[in-house]
Amino acid sequence: MRMYDVISRKKNGGALSEEEIRFFTEGFTRGEIPDYQAAALLMAICLRGMDGRETALLTDAMMRSGEMADLSSIPGVKVDKHSTGGVGDKTSLIVGPIVASCGVPVAKMSGRGLGHTGGTIDKLESIPGLRTAIAPDRFCAIVRATGLAIIGQSEAIAPADKKLYALRDVTATVDSIPLIASSVMSKKLAAGSDAILLDVKTGSGAFMKTLDDAVALARVMVSIGVRSGRRVMALVTDMDTPLGHAVGNALEVEEAVRTLRGVGPEDLTAVCAELAAYMLLLAGAADGLAACKALAEGAIGSGRAFAKFREMVAAQGGDVSALEGGFAKAPVISPFKAPASGYITHIDAGACGRASLALGAGRVRKEDGVDYSAGIVLQKKTGGHIAAGETIALLHTSDQSRLREAEELLSAAVAVGDRPPPAAEHILAVVSE
Ligand code: URA
Repeated sequence: MRMYDVISRKKNGGALSEEEIRFFTEGFTRGEIPDYQAAALLMAICLRGMDGRETALLTDAMMRSGEMADLSSIPGVKVDKHSTGGVGDKTSLIVGPIVASCGVPVAKMSGRGLGHTGGTIDKLESIPGLRTAIAPDRFCAIVRATGLAIIGQSEAIAPADKKLYALRDVTATVDSIPLIASSVMSKKLAAGSDAILLDVKTGSGAFMKTLDDAVALARVMVSIGVRSGRRVMALVTDMDTPLGHAVGNALEVEEAVRTLRGVGPEDLTAVCAELAAYMLLLAGAADGLAACKALAEGAIGSGRAFAKFREMVAAQGGDVSALEGGFAKAPVISPFKAPASGYITHIDAGACGRASLALGAGRVRKEDGVDYSAGIVLQKKTGGHIAAGETIALLHTSDQSRLREAEELLSAAVAVGDRPPPAAEHILAVVSE
C-alpha cells in the first residue's frame, strides 16, 4: 500500500478502507510515514470529511496505538469527563471533586493548554508541589483511597493522538469533526473509565463555532463511545464568552476553590452542577437527573466537594495551605478600562484566551514555560452595565511589556451597546444515544 494513494483517494472524496486507515495510523505512529504526507491526508480529511464508519475505524486505530489503562482495581463505575477546550474552563477542577464526594470514583487524565485554550494540568500545577506525572499503580491507589485523581495524559495512552494533534495544531487542521471526534474518543476509551461525559463547547472561543456543528460532533462521539460498550453522553455548552471571571492558571484555581465553597460565579456554578449531575446519572448514583443534581448541589453546600479537592491535592503532593491563603500574585496587575458607557453586549472568548496567552499564561510553542500567575480577571461580564473609564478587567502579568498586546486584543474583544443582550443559555443541547 502507498500513502500517496490513500491521500489521493481522500482528496477525491472517496471513503478510506479499514486497511488504509490502519496503514496510515500505525505507520505514522511508528515514524514510517513522514509529517508532510500525514499533513496532506489530514487536510484532505478536513476538506472532504469522513463518514461514521471511517471515523469509528480511525478512533479504534488511534486507541490501539498504545496501552489501554486498567482501572479494574478501583471498585465501582468509574466516570470520566472531557471538554473539547475553552477559555476559563476550570470545570474539571470542580466537577471531579463534586462527583467523587458523592461516592463515584473519578480517575482522570487531562491535557496541557495549547494555543488560546487552557489545560487542566497547567492549572493544577500552579498549586505549589502538586504532581501530575504519576505512575499507573500510584494513580489507581490514590483513586482507591480518595475517589479522585487528575494526572497528565500518559505517554503510553493513544500516542497516535499525541503525534497527530501536534501536527494538526500547526497545519490548521484542528477544527474537523472526524479529527476532533477520533482524537477525543481514542484517548478517552483508552483511559479506561466505564462512563464518559463529553462537554462540547460552542461559540467564539471553541473549535466548533456553531451549535449545529457542535451537536454533530457530539453525536459522532456519543455514537463511537456507545458502540464501544461505554456509557456516554454529551452536553453542548456555551463558549462564546469566557466561563466564570478568571482566565489563567492560578487565577482559575482560586475561582474553582470559591465555586467549590459555594461562592463562585453564577455561570460556572450552573455549568458545573449540570455536568456533575450528568456524570452522576451515567454512574447510576441516583434515580433521575433531578436527584443527581440535588446530590451535586448538596456536595457543594455541605463542604464535602471542597474537602474532596483538598484530599486530592494532598494525595498528589500539593500544598493545601495555598487553597486557603491564595496564590502568589503577579507583580503587575493593570486595569483594562471601558472605552464608553453602556451595556457589555459581547466579550469574545477566543480573544480573551489570546490576551491571556499574551500575558504569559499559555504556550505559543509546546516547549514554552507558563507563567502560572498570569491571566485576566473580568470584573464585568456580558450584560453588565459600565461607565466610560470603569474597570472591565484586571490584567495580571510578570512582564509589563506584555500588557500592550493583551490590551489591544481585549479592545477588539469587548463590544458595548445601548441595550443589554438577551441572557445567554449555558447548556445548549444534551446528546445521548
Ligand atoms: N480536544 C482534543 O482532545 N482533541 C481535539 O482534536 C480537539 C480538542
